[in-house]
Amino acid sequence: MSLLSRRALFAGMLQQPPTPNIVFIMSDDHASHAISAYGSKINRTPNIDRLAKEGVRLDNCFCTNSICTPSRAAILTGQYSHINGVNTLNDSLDTKRMTVARRLQSFGYQTAMIGKWHLVTEPQGFDHWQILPGQGVYNDPVFVDQSGRKQYKGYCTDLITDFTLDWLGARDKAKPFFLMCHHKAPHRPWDPGPKYKDLFADQTIPEPSNLYQPVGRGLKMRVGEDTTERDLKMKPPPGLTGDALRKWAYQIYIKDYLRCVQSVDDSVGRVLDYLDANQLRDNTLIVYTSDQGFFLGDHGLFDKRLMFEESLRMPFLARYPREIKAGTVNTDISLNIDFAPTFLDFAGMGGDGAMQGESFRQNLQGRTPPTWRQSMYYRYWMHDDPDHHVPGHYGVRTKTHKLVRFQSTEPEWELYDLKRDPREMTNLYGKDAELEKKLKTELTRLQHKFLDAP
Ligand code: CA
Repeated sequence: MSLLSRRALFAGMLQQPPTPNIVFIMSDDHASHAISAYGSKINRTPNIDRLAKEGVRLDNCFCTNSICTPSRAAILTGQYSHINGVNTLNDSLDTKRMTVARRLQSFGYQTAMIGKWHLVTEPQGFDHWQILPGQGVYNDPVFVDQSGRKQYKGYCTDLITDFTLDWLGARDKAKPFFLMCHHKAPHRPWDPGPKYKDLFADQTIPEPSNLYQPVGRGLKMRVGEDTTERDLKMKPPPGLTGDALRKWAYQIYIKDYLRCVQSVDDSVGRVLDYLDANQLRDNTLIVYTSDQGFFLGDHGLFDKRLMFEESLRMPFLARYPREIKAGTVNTDISLNIDFAPTFLDFAGMGGDGAMQGESFRQNLQGRTPPTWRQSMYYRYWMHDDPDHHVPGHYGVRTKTHKLVRFQSTEPEWELYDLKRDPREMTNLYGKDAELEKKLKTELTRLQHKFLDAP
């Protein structure tokens, strides 16, 4: 008898709640401010919003290194980049490393990974996987699975959803399952699907208040100056420069980005409909998140990487009617390294000794432990890559302030008051010695705490 069947037997005898299925839907680069449940001023996402209405919305969920491959590794391992070895886009996940999928599989869960993987080495700990090679493409993509490579006709987001529903339909219904459904969208170069290619065509998307902010540090993520012809699918009108170029490019890229989001929203709706129609609603924890946030013209930028709020914040919505009250909002600081311990906790497995994150299962129930963290540590490692020129940096974010130290560029430090200045427009570093000392002490404490795996 497997561990899980034994547990199910005992659970029945002791009247404990049954082991839940876990559906983890993750998109790529979907900022929370492009989700209407998070108050988006630029689009509507009715299906993702269903999760907020029927479950919980996390308002302070952050990634520990705001870039694709490292965030995925942090989610799977429950560890910071410097521990799991995936610091930058060029690193691969060690196939021997313990992950949440491996743990759940060993416990008797049926496990599947469908969509964008982007960790170089083949997925481990999954009974079934079907992934995009590398970044993959939006139209007629190739997928790789245990039997080889195959190209499919269609739009990537729709195909990933089809494969997800196919797997759900064909699974062994006697076992609980852990399903990762990872979209490529809305990652650059923002190619919309046929259904939404004309969405917003006659509209002007509202601009963020700091779209025309001058961009420092030599960053190559400026809307207009650094968006390419491939990104925009056209050349800028001749003679367009400066703010006029930024204004023009913003409308082009943001519309394509939001069109890609709309297909992801449809996908979430299809998965929710499947769960609801197949008596899986009550015993399934379903999560929607993104590997990090994204700049939607904020600070004049696109892309992510920086510790600014728009990039640091991850959307996180979860529904599990047995434990999570509908329509709740949680503002505790939660991290991508917490996801793995949280799923293990829901599965009744307890944490893994090497994981650095904490289970936030109780927080989702509205019962935040009194010792819950009041600050988080961030570290971006991919110093000065040729395409984006973002310096390496690290920092601490509390519920009210953020202190960041940058490598090789000026100013070395940035400090923001997040209550008074939520858009992070005024660097207060050098103005309040007492506050700086306090935040530096906390930063050092966190660096020591996470230096080694437990
Ligand atoms: Ca990403």
